[in-house]
Amino acid sequence: MRVPDALVGGFFEPAWDVYERSVRLRTLRELRRSQWGTPDQVRARQEQQLRVMLDHARATCPFYRDTWAAAGIDAAAIRSLADLARLPIVTKDDIRQRQDDLISTKHRKADLRRAKTGGSTGVSLEIFCDEPGIQKRTAAALRSDEWSGWRLGQPMAAIWGNPPVATSFKNRLRETLKDRIVYLDTMRIDGPAIERFLREWEQLRPGLLFGHAHSLFILAEYLRDHGRRLNPGGIVATSMMLLEPERRVIEDVCGVPVTNRYGCEEVSLIACECERHHGLHLNADHVITEFLRDDGSPCAPGEDGRLVVTELVNFGMPLIRYELGDRGVPTDRLCPCGRGLPLMECVTGRTADFLWAEGGYRVQGISIIENTLTKLPGIRQMQIVQEEDGRLEVNLVPGPGWGDDVAAALTATLRDILGQGVALELRPMERIPQEKNGKYRFTICRVTRR
Ligand SMILES: [Zn+2]
Repeated sequence: MRVPDALVGGFFEPAWDVYERSVRLRTLRELRRSQWGTPDQVRARQEQQLRVMLDHARATCPFYRDTWAAAGIDAAAIRSLADLARLPIVTKDDIRQRQDDLISTKHRKADLRRAKTGGSTGVSLEIFCDEPGIQKRTAAALRSDEWSGWRLGQPMAAIWGNPPVATSFKNRLRETLKDRIVYLDTMRIDGPAIERFLREWEQLRPGLLFGHAHSLFILAEYLRDHGRRLNPGGIVATSMMLLEPERRVIEDVCGVPVTNRYGCEEVSLIACECERHHGLHLNADHVITEFLRDDGSPCAPGEDGRLVVTELVNFGMPLIRYELGDRGVPTDRLCPCGRGLPLMECVTGRTADFLWAEGGYRVQGISIIENTLTKLPGIRQMQIVQEEDGRLEVNLVPGPGWGDDVAAALTATLRDILGQGVALELRPMERIPQEKNGKYRFTICRVTRR
């Protein structure tokens, strides 16, 4: 028998928090309220939380004590968001080499929740988070789930790779939803798997469809081709690569807008669109996000830069000015929704997804895909891999309309973008394999140094 959503949202969910002594729903209520504060109020809150985190890190994390002292920095003098730029950047290598020194002496490593990152660059990373931090991260994700149209208590459907799943989300599923989730494994999206998913969907009627953008598109394409529809209350796409044509197909078969979200395993939610879809609201209550030029100075609005984050809720293993390896564009626009949470324009991709053109400059992978995959007929899927300067392999899944003329047009377009002298190898195949974590990558650059 199906448990009424209102009973789950109004009773089971709060009861679970009491049982777990969790701050999850209390934080959710605070976040629902605080999002309507003015930008100045949001900033003041961030700076106050930042000072608490810096004091904590300086007093209890040997890594920060050492590196800040070595750089001659008095962390007590860091009072504002602008001051934050004086602190050194924390790299993935720092985390790999000095993991134990990053963990607060106030916490036992064994008591912290471990998250292992996907390791898209070939090496994975372990991040630890204290229990209240996990609950607060979950609360922030729930708030942005609500922006999509989903309501607390409604079941969810997830299209997700297995294994590993982002730990925070997996825990959310296990702890709060248990059987109230329909699941489609991105490692195996074929007709029978989709049909099984649709049968379970009918039984549970999820309020939210959640997954990687390109996996959502593959499902939507199947539904379109078979004259089927879905009717979720909201759709959340957790991928930086939400292509406009794919977004349209998903929205056509589901009848609601796609909510684009950006996050990572290390700090969970970073930014998400609200119901107005006017850019992504930064999760400013929990994370300070900086956009930096290559020389470390801050980007101007509209300028693409390196993403660096400071998390304000994880006291177990504080991450202060951690470089994510992704790139994005800040903005000073305000959202018409009235929320005071700042916006970012978009995530432009992983640093590792930018390809090198002949002229020695970087080209954003998604813009190449938008000019080829989404414009030329006969290509169902595509992935460009740059193994070395001047040479590209193009993996592609041909569809109806594929032929020599399309191949020639593809080659010409890629040479226009990346240089006339680049060597191109087109490799038609039946399917393009995902990463180990189930995500798709449209471009992969293995050129490490320039
Ligand atoms: Zn908004």
